[in-house]
Amino acid sequence: MCKFFRRMVSAAVLLLVSMLLCLPQGNVEAASKAAVHELNYFKSYETQVEGQKVFRIEIGMDREDLEYQVLEKNYLRKQLVLDLKNTRPGKLKKNIKLSSPLAKKITISELEKRHTQVVIDLAGSVTEDLYKVTVAKAEPAKGKPYRLVVDLFAEPQAAPGESFQGVKGRTIVIDPGHGGSDSGAVGPTGLAEKTATLAVSKKVKSLLEASGARVVMTRETDVDVYGPNASDRQELQARVNVGEYTPGANIFVSIHCNAFSNPAAKGMETYYYPSSPRGEQLATYIYNELLKDGGLAGRGVRTANFYVMKHSSMPATLLELAFITNPREEKLLGDDKYQMTLAKAIVRGISHYFGD
Ligand code: ZN
Repeated sequence: MCKFFRRMVSAAVLLLVSMLLCLPQGNVEAASKAAVHELNYFKSYETQVEGQKVFRIEIGMDREDLEYQVLEKNYLRKQLVLDLKNTRPGKLKKNIKLSSPLAKKITISELEKRHTQVVIDLAGSVTEDLYKVTVAKAEPAKGKPYRLVVDLFAEPQAAPGESFQGVKGRTIVIDPGHGGSDSGAVGPTGLAEKTATLAVSKKVKSLLEASGARVVMTRETDVDVYGPNASDRQELQARVNVGEYTPGANIFVSIHCNAFSNPAAKGMETYYYPSSPRGEQLATYIYNELLKDGGLAGRGVRTANFYVMKHSSMPATLLELAFITNPREEKLLGDDKYQMTLAKAIVRGISHYFGD
């Protein structure tokens, strides 16, 4: 939006300057016509970004400062739509087939004069963690013009040979701690607990689903579950309700990060409600896997009266993955690969709990 306004302002300034200079109307026309982008470059290929496989689409044009908007369509077809203002399709083909398991084709169409849409048909869901849209400056040495760059990421999946048999057919409630108006604890470089818990929870969800479990999340984006600035009780009960109102829900797993005033505090721990032997089993299985794979100091399997454990009728556990206030552990919590290591350990623990 900011970009859009900036362009509006610069267009207005241009108009004003032209009027002050008493330029004939024709020149203003010419100036605004010249601002139209023409699409004239296309490339798609596989590459790596921070160790992750990426399918990249580059759409180049004859001039800079493209004004664009990204829209997600998840209804009949899964489509990522790039809405380009002041743009003409130029010499690009209207339909381009893509050779990627992530995306099938691209359709380029001029909706109205100087308003073009690029529609990418995706194989999977359109969610914000699976794509990234940026613009890149021209690189004349490489023969690349100014361009719009779309990176598509594969959904995280269990590594071949690693399936979690115990979770098949189970219904699992995952509760990413905090969210929305409640950041949770914040690390020394600014990583919010709500961000780390959601990132790990989403990976847990993908792994569970890949192994045949049904997963219900208390939240899937950065939101409050009850609503912004609710009381703790309202917010936590809303999370409990997600589990209670899910028919056949087997377990409730709440994911958090620890915090302490002393940045040296470190390690991982899991919790269960004192009178819940099955909660204790669940907390213990997950603890053992987190300890083995996460590599952090083990603080033990502990009891507590945490609201979400106390008020859930199913076996429940609350995980403190690491101390977000510890600089080293904050860095790990923000690392995509480490998040996946934790997610796999959690899912393996859940699978063991169900007898695998
Ligand atoms: Zn927390």
